[in-house]
Amino acid sequence: MTSNSSGMYPLTAAIQHEALRTHSAPDGAFSVGEAHREMQVHRDCRLDECARKATAFQTLIDAGRVTPDSARQPR
Ligand SMILES: [Zn+2]
Repeated sequence: MTSNSSGMYPLTAAIQHEALRTHSAPDGAFSVGEAHREMQVHRDCRLDECARKATAFQTLIDAGRVTPDSARQPR
């Protein structure tokens, strides 16, 4: 092991990972597969606080994969 790689931390990987975690609404529509993935990435997000999760959720509703009634959470 060498210690001269301390300045070579692969920041790009972290930046790309963070980009995947954006909570902004997407520029375009999600496919059903993308929506499923986004729902998993944002599983800890609230629908009313994460536009991206809300968009993914709406995509699945439109695709008939989920029904809003069964997914509605009690306040
Ligand atoms: Zn989110």
